Amino acid sequence: MTTLDLIEPATEKVLNTVAVTEPTELDDIVSRAALAQQRWAAQRPEDRAHVLAAVAREIEENLEDLARIEARNVGMPINDARGAVAGAASTFRYYSAAPERLLGQTIPVAGGVDMTFREPIGVVGLITPWNFPLTIASWKVAPALAAGNAVLLKPAELTPLSTLRLAELARRAGLPEDLFHVLVGSGTTIGRRMVEHPGIGKIAFTGSTAVGKDIARRAAENITRVTLELGGKSASIVFADADLDAAAQGLAGGVFGNSGQDCCARSRVFVQRAALEPFLEKLHAVVDDIVVGDPLAEDTQMGPLVSANQAARVQDYVQDAPVLFQGSAPAGPGFWFPPTVLYPLDDDHRAAREEIFGPVVAVLPFDTEDEAVARANGTVYGLAGSIWTANAARSLRVARQVAAGALAINSYTSVRITTPFGGFKQSGLGRELGPDALDAYTEVKNVFFNTVGP
Ligand code: NAD
Repeated sequence: MTTLDLIEPATEKVLNTVAVTEPTELDDIVSRAALAQQRWAAQRPEDRAHVLAAVAREIEENLEDLARIEARNVGMPINDARGAVAGAASTFRYYSAAPERLLGQTIPVAGGVDMTFREPIGVVGLITPWNFPLTIASWKVAPALAAGNAVLLKPAELTPLSTLRLAELARRAGLPEDLFHVLVGSGTTIGRRMVEHPGIGKIAFTGSTAVGKDIARRAAENITRVTLELGGKSASIVFADADLDAAAQGLAGGVFGNSGQDCCARSRVFVQRAALEPFLEKLHAVVDDIVVGDPLAEDTQMGPLVSANQAARVQDYVQDAPVLFQGSAPAGPGFWFPPTVLYPLDDDHRAAREEIFGPVVAVLPFDTEDEAVARANGTVYGLAGSIWTANAARSLRVARQVAAGALAINSYTSVRITTPFGGFKQSGLGRELGPDALDAYTEVKNVFFNTVGP
């Protein structure tokens, strides 16, 4: 049996050892999932709804345990991890309403009745990243099961623990055997085999744009459906009339949360030149106050980066960029990196252009609204963004012009369980969460019923 040692980012010690799924096991896992899916789709909608609501309750009853797993495996501050677990429970509860509400249409046609059905896809492959493992697992598993599918989920090899626990809790809640299987292993072995497997009808992937492109290419072979939630280099645009205290606080939340390992991180901040100095002053004070340390300590606001590789990658971006100021970070052991503000730098500096995925923000001054919009859009990405201004008309005008899937006005939040989430351009394809996720896990079937009979 092959095993994988998991390293705790805050201590650099082995946290746990897990068994790896051998690629040779995949055919059997897919066959069993296909059988389980047929039985699941045939169950009464209210029974499926009941099981999903029970999963939500199990998650809530094990909130502290799951939060500690996430905090230790990812390095996420414990309070953020509790929020993530509560969010996962809410996601299951939200989609527990879906089995009884998967509505079709009747469409006027000549000679009969035309109706549509939302059919499950069958066996769905889910591939998740290491930054928000339980959160992103719930975004995919809950709607996929609600729509009547079976799911095979491959978590990132660095952080599989909360997903493994979720599968156990789902079984305990009454989810039938073989309907939700976790595959542990690397992307290039088991992940790639999932994408290429003809028995898997859809891949829902969250991760980097580079891997998303590889998945789209390989999925094309069997016309396997794909949803891709990919990288970002999102912008905050701070106008001179904004509440600068709120903008500086919001900026910190929007880029240093989860140590910047957030696809929605607003890692470019465009600040109108008239407000640049006071904004930087306020930002400096906010950065100085960020408590970086042990993820299990109640007052910690920022933990370590997830791995030595990630810390080296972030350092590589920062070492050839102009650092204006940095916050604090523990000395080690642990993969620590201080909150870091870069200024001045050009838009085409690689630290202002590429996704760093660490607690690093580039401050970029601008003069006019049109210029801010054009520069915010000067990226291959289009995931999220924020607009900070007291001018309501301008806020909505700019929000409509920024090419991104999740925008917030005078706020840094990107995600709500009940609303669609996804990217423009190279940040992705398709939408998760809200009602849209159910479209992503169903096929529309059209049936014509001839009423011009004998
Ligand atoms: P990654 O792309 O390296 O890996 C993501 C997952 O894909 C992992 O489970 C990995 O094992 C698997 N994988 C890797 N190569 C594969 C292949 N060839 N075929 C199939 N699977 C493969 O990403 P990561 O480093 O884990 O996460 C960071 C990235 O994820 C960042 O780019 C971030 O922006 C992105 N992300 C996006 C969202 C979003 O919703 N848009 C959310 C979180 C993270």
